[in-house]
Amino acid sequence: MERAKIVLKSGKDQSLRRFHPWVFSGAIKKIYGTAREGEIVDIFDNKDEYLASGHYQESSIAVRILSFKQEEIDASFWKTRISQAFDLRLMTKLIDNQQTNVYRLVCAEGDFLPGLVVDFYNGTAVMQMHSAGMYMQKEMIAEALKEVMGNRLKCIYNKSESSVPFKSDVDPRDEYIYGKPETNEVMENGHRFIIDWEKGQKTGFFIDQRENRKLLKEYSSKRKVLNMFGYTGGFSVYAMAGGANLVHSVDASAKAIDLTDKNIELNFPDDSRHESFAMDAFEFFNTSKEKYDLIVLDPPAFAKHHNVLSNALQGYKKLNRRAIELINPGGIIFSFSCSQVVSKENFKKSVFVAAANTGRKVRILHQLTQPVDHPVNIYHPEGEYLKGLVLQVD
Ligand code: SAH
Repeated sequence: MERAKIVLKSGKDQSLRRFHPWVFSGAIKKIYGTAREGEIVDIFDNKDEYLASGHYQESSIAVRILSFKQEEIDASFWKTRISQAFDLRLMTKLIDNQQTNVYRLVCAEGDFLPGLVVDFYNGTAVMQMHSAGMYMQKEMIAEALKEVMGNRLKCIYNKSESSVPFKSDVDPRDEYIYGKPETNEVMENGHRFIIDWEKGQKTGFFIDQRENRKLLKEYSSKRKVLNMFGYTGGFSVYAMAGGANLVHSVDASAKAIDLTDKNIELNFPDDSRHESFAMDAFEFFNTSKEKYDLIVLDPPAFAKHHNVLSNALQGYKKLNRRAIELINPGGIIFSFSCSQVVSKENFKKSVFVAAANTGRKVRILHQLTQPVDHPVNIYHPEGEYLKGLVLQVD
């Protein structure tokens, strides 16, 4: 099929020349032919020089780039890209690992496939598409996954109903598109988790905290731990494994608390050290009588857009201030931000102001980020979204 041709305004080619994988709608001068949502388009500069090709979308990000050279986007393209993603996970020992069978196999721009996330849960690949273009190529992507993963892959679930932009013309559905899941239990660093990819948040599990959870385990011995915004209880399980004296998990969602209880029971049956609370974070801080020695703050993204950035920074400040005020002397705080629009510097500044407001002595012990299966394309710095500080409070 003939591809539509998009010509950029003068000067608007610069970001593509630096390999940034998005074209904003405001950069477009003219479209030749019909660019339909989800189709592949070719992009040219103002002097008719070819720049890149990608999926067209009726939104402020008008094109997500798949390739900076003129090539077919066909079965062999998908197989090559997915093989490259697979090779990185193989090299970094996430694939065929005895202790861990859950990892991100494809991380959108970080794997040069903007709009596509694939998480692997012990045999089941959960695909999440963020563009109509990716959704329309789901069969080809599924075929490539099958070929590359071989018999490691038993099942593919497409969970794109709420992630594909609602204005687009495709009618995305959450459905199994290959096989049936053999199990919904996974292992991460030797710890067991039940994953609900059908009803859970995102694809079911926050895989990006794997290494940070492991670090938390090292700090947990004999401590009283509060896991705030616990979701599936990931940090709580590691804290228990690390020898915590007590672990409290808090999440506003009753469903999340249900999952936490299941996961704790799976790893530590009848262990009375753990208790969970379906409660708002601030309400918990204001009513709890317990004093903690280790607090995890892993809130949902406070800012999804730049225009709410200052509210988000206030949110981080308030939350961190409460934790710094309340923690026992010598205590440790693992504090995170997963908002893409909040920079490392801005996050650190919020925590700095929070600390200064309490007047306590605070040191940064570690500066954390996302693990290797969430790589950051150097030309797409927005991909570095997870920021964490490990603080010690005297
Ligand atoms: N730490 C988790 C991921 C946290 S996701 C992990 O390692 O898997 C953020 C969680 O915060 C969600 O489960 C959501 O239900 C919860 N949440 C959102 N707003 C909240 C609030 N005001 N108080 C408590 N929990 C909240």
